[in-house]
Order: sequence, then C-alpha cells, then structure tokens
Amino acid sequence: MSGQGGQGGQGGQGGQTMRAWQWRGPDDHGQIAAAVPTPAPDELLIAVEACGLCGTDLRILAGDYGHARPPVVIGHEFAGTVAAVGSAVEGYAAGQRVAADPNVYCLKCEWCSRRAYNLCSMLHAVGIGRDGAMAEYVAVPARLAVRLPDAVAPALGALIEPLSCVLHGLERGGVEAVGQGGGWAGRTMAVYGAGAIGLIAVAVAAGLGLEVTAVEPLAARRLRAEAAGAVRAAERLEPSARFDYVLDASGAPAAVVDGFGRLRKRGTFIQMGVAPSAFEVPVNPYRVYENEWRIIGSNSVADCYGRALALVESLSGPLSQLVTHTLPLAELPRAIELMTDPSAVKVQIDPRL
Ligand SMILES: [Zn+2]
Ligand SMILES: [Zn+2]
Repeated sequence: MSGQGGQGGQGGQGGQTMRAWQWRGPDDHGQIAAAVPTPAPDELLIAVEACGLCGTDLRILAGDYGHARPPVVIGHEFAGTVAAVGSAVEGYAAGQRVAADPNVYCLKCEWCSRRAYNLCSMLHAVGIGRDGAMAEYVAVPARLAVRLPDAVAPALGALIEPLSCVLHGLERGGVEAVGQGGGWAGRTMAVYGAGAIGLIAVAVAAGLGLEVTAVEPLAARRLRAEAAGAVRAAERLEPSARFDYVLDASGAPAAVVDGFGRLRKRGTFIQMGVAPSAFEVPVNPYRVYENEWRIIGSNSVADCYGRALALVESLSGPLSQLVTHTLPLAELPRAIELMTDPSAVKVQIDPRL
C-alpha cells in the first residue's frame, strides 16, 4: 500500500472524501465514503472515468483470490484524467488523460529482472493488493501510467489491461515467434470462451491472419465472435477438428478437457482462463512427446502493457463493441449480475455518473 489509500478516516487529498467500492472479506463488500488518496511523491492521482469489472473482481469479492488483501477498493482495468501529480513526478500534468498497468512490481526480484513482472515476488496490484479504481479517484505510481492518445476514450483506455493480458498469452504461446518466422498462412486457432478475453483474443489472432474458430455455448456471444473475426463460431466442434493453437479463455473444465484433445502436431495449448483451483486434467506424456505439444500458462499483463497501448487504437472497432454496459458505482451489484447475462460482455463503471 502507498499508505494513503482511501479506506475511510483521516488524511486524503485536502481532506476530501469520495465514493469507493470496498471489499472487506468473502461476499462482504459495498460502497463507502473514503478519503481521496494523497499521491505519494512518485504517484499520480487519477480521477477515474471508466473501470471495467472482470472475472478476477468476482473472485476477489467472493474471497477466492489469493493475492487480494482486505480491506481493499477493487478495480484494476481503468482510465481517467490526472487530478494531482506527486512532488517527484515529471512529465505529467493535471487534466491529461491516462491509463495504467495495475501491477505494482518491484523491479528488484529475479522475476522482474526477467521482465516477468506478473510473477514479481513483491507484486501488489492496484485493485487487488492496494486500493483500486472502483472509486472516484485512484493513486498509482507514475512509472506505470501511460498517456492516452486523444482518439482513445476512457472506455477504450480501460480495455488496454485486458488487451495486454491477451498479448501476453499469445506471446507465451509463441504466436508472435511464428509470425517473425515466415507468416501465418494456414495456421489455425481455437478459442474457447467468447467473453471479453476470448473476444479480444479472436480479434488479435484474426488480425494477425490466423484462421480462428470460437467455441462458445451462448449464441449471442458466438455472433460477437464472428463479428470480431472468427471464421466460425460453434457450440461444440466436430470430433475431427484439430488446431495449431488452442487458447482457453473460459476456465471451464469441460472446455479445457475438450481443448486438450484438439492439438495438431507441434500444437500449443494456452491456458488463460481461470479454472477452479482443484480441477485436474489427465495428460498423456507419450502423446506430448510424440506430437511435440506445448502446454503454456499465461496470467495477467507481464511486460505487455506498452504494446497494448500501441495496438489499442487499431483495434478500437472490435474493442469498443465489447463494452455493453456502463453503470454508476452505486450499481455495482447490478454489474455483477450482468457478468452472467448473455447480452453482456464487458461491464464498466463510470464513477462520475
Ligand atoms: Zn481484469
Ligand atoms: Zn519483482
């Protein structure tokens, strides 16, 4: 914690208070009046204009996410406007539109030296281990912030975080390496789950030229997958269907089991979905050996936030369509309900409403 996080009580920016959504323990959360954070010397205070709700938030609120420490204000997918600048920060001024990588990593440990910032031994992410952006204001280290181009509205800026997760997943799966080695013609990918992460993966992979098939039980989301660039979207695949890449963005045990059986020779399975922690799937080492399969895990952003910023404008078409609902902070319970609604993909909170 920066020590000035808005947890109610003393301190704060000029003694002002703000509305924030605080998690206190398993299924114990609600809106509070908190002190507006005072930015530390190396921090920016950001007036939040958009903050996405995602599956990780639901795991935190349920008390089923290891890194979260109560009490904490949730919210890690956000964009807004600089409201105040810490005394040691250079290059930022009030009024500038920004977003930020929520992962506050140490830059000192072994994992940071490998640029695996998501695996930092000292990681305490905004909205998970320190107060986040489901609030009128959030304080973040300036080194993690990025200026948004004028064309990137707050709602789009708040999608840079999930986009960076997808870029990291594709990089972990070696997708870019193939591109550098001679193109994508004929390469195929199956994406299981057409929620926000799955749909972003479809858009990025299709944009690279892969032939993408989406596997998704909800008809409304299958249509979205086709609009995002999938050549087909199916409720289930034919028994013979095989792919160079299988990306699980669902975390659903049945999807993972099905996907594991669908790799071509030299195929790569990329696990991005958050499966139940006790779920196990059998793996046949002989077939892994024989077919030279790769099984890859990918979580969070690592070092991909900057690349996502560079790409976000070119993907603004498919990305903007993901934001199906924008609600005021007080309606966060309804936002949670919408997470399981077929009509919804990405639900964002605008604390100014
Ligand atoms: Zn998220
Ligand atoms: Zn570290």
